[in-house]
Amino acid sequence: MNEYDSARMACLLEEMGYGPAATQLDADVILLNTCSVRELAEHKVYSALGALRKLKLRKPKTIIGVCGCVAQQEGKRMLRRVPHLNFVLGTAALDRLPEMIMDARQGLRRAETAFKQPLLQDRRIIVPEKPGLQAHITVMTGCDNFCSYCVVPYVRGREKSRSAAEIVAEAEILAGRGTREIMLLGQNVDSYRDPDQGFGFARLLEKVAAVDSVWRVRFMTSHPKDMSPELVEAVAGVPEVMEQVHLPVQSGNDEILSAMNRGYTRAAYLAKVEALRKAVPEVSLGSDLIVGFPGEREEAFRETLGIVREVGYDMLFCFMYSDRPLTKARNMDGKIDDETKARRLQELLDLYREIAASRNKALVGSTQEVLVEGPAKKGAGMVSGRARGGQAVNFPGGPELAGSLVRVKINKGRTNSLVGRQVSAAEGDES
Ligand code: SAH
Ligand code: SF4
Repeated sequence: MNEYDSARMACLLEEMGYGPAATQLDADVILLNTCSVRELAEHKVYSALGALRKLKLRKPKTIIGVCGCVAQQEGKRMLRRVPHLNFVLGTAALDRLPEMIMDARQGLRRAETAFKQPLLQDRRIIVPEKPGLQAHITVMTGCDNFCSYCVVPYVRGREKSRSAAEIVAEAEILAGRGTREIMLLGQNVDSYRDPDQGFGFARLLEKVAAVDSVWRVRFMTSHPKDMSPELVEAVAGVPEVMEQVHLPVQSGNDEILSAMNRGYTRAAYLAKVEALRKAVPEVSLGSDLIVGFPGEREEAFRETLGIVREVGYDMLFCFMYSDRPLTKARNMDGKIDDETKARRLQELLDLYREIAASRNKALVGSTQEVLVEGPAKKGAGMVSGRARGGQAVNFPGGPELAGSLVRVKINKGRTNSLVGRQVSAAEGDES
C-alpha cells in the first residue's frame, strides 16, 4: 500500500515539475514514506531522519517531509522532535503534497494529519506515465477490524471502498500504458462494497479481469473470517484471476486467536482452506504469522507450527509481536521476552524453508504459465518471471521475452524459486 502511495506522490511531484534525483544530495525534495506496523519500522524512520541532518546543514534549502503511517501517528510531535523536518503529511491527506511543498518553500513548517479530507483516490485518478508491467491499485483504504495488536485502524482510519468505476478506469489507463498484471490492495478485500451499486469484491475482480490487455489480476489481503464462496468461485473460474490467496492466520491457537480479536477459530480457518483447495486444487497459499503475542505459551506456539505444517503454505511472512501505540494488546499481561520471540521466529522460519522447498519440489515436471519480467538477477542468459501462483521462475531466455506470457516446464524446485525451460504450447499441454 505504501508503494502505491509512493507512486502517486511521485506523480504529484512530476506535475509540479520535479523529476527523480540521482542522489540525496542532488534532491530538492526528500520524502520518507513510512510504516508503523512494527516498532522497528518506526525506529528506522528516526534514524533515517537523523542521517539527513548533516545534509540539511550543507544544503538548507532541501525540503524534507515525512509521509505515511508514522506521520499520521506522530503528527506535530515529529516537527518538535526533528528540527530539520519541513513537514509531516498523514495518510489521508496525500493530495495536499503540492501545497505542503509550496508552504515549505515559504519557510512554513506544517503537520497535516486530519482524516476529514476526502481521500486522494476519491478525487482524481493519478497514474504514472510509465507504469511497470505489474502495478498496484488500492481498492479500499483503512480497516475496521481492530485486531488487538494492530495499529492500522488508527493510522489509516475507517474502512472505505473506492468506486468500482474509478478502479476500472485506473486499470484501463494502466493497461493502456503497458501494465499487464494488477494487484488489487486492501486490508480486508472481502469486505469491499462498491459505494455506487453495492456489489462485493468477487464482482470487482471480474470487472478488472475484463479490462482489455489486463492479463493477470491478483489481490491481497483476504481475511479468513470474511472470505466468501463467491471469491473462491472467482479464483476458480475467472481465467485472469491468479490462483493465489494470501490468507493470514496469525496463530494456530484458539485462545491467542481470540485474544487477537481475529474472529475465527483454528477449525474455521482450516475449513476455509479446505473449501478453497477443493475448488482450486493448485492454489498457492500465503499467510502472515505473529510469534510471541502476549500470553503465547509454548504449546500455543507449537499449534502455530502445526497449522503451518498442516496447511503447507507457499509464502509466509513471520513477525515477532511488537507493542504498538493505542492497541489493546499493548496493555495485556503475559508479554513474551525477546529471546523467546527470536527463538520461536527462527523455528518458524526453519519450518517454512522446509515446507517451501518441498512445495516447490512438488512442482518439478509441471508446466507453468510465466509472465516474464526480464533478465534474472543471477545467471547469464537467464530470464525471470512469476508463475500464476506467484512463484519466481527462472529459465534460459533472452531479454526480448520481457513482457510476454510463456510456458515453462519446471525441472528444479528451490526454496525460493523454480527453474525450468521454455516449451511450446503443445509440448506444455502434454505434461
Ligand atoms: N490486513 C492484513 C494485514 C496488515 S498488517 C491482515 O489482516 O492480514 C501486515 C501484518 O503485519 C499482519 O498480518 C501481522 O501479521 C503483522 N503485524 C501487524 N501488527 C503487528 C504487531 N503489532 N506486531 C507484529 N506483527 C504485526
Ligand atoms: Fe490490522 Fe486486523 Fe485490520 Fe489486518 S484486519 S489491518 S491485522 S486490524
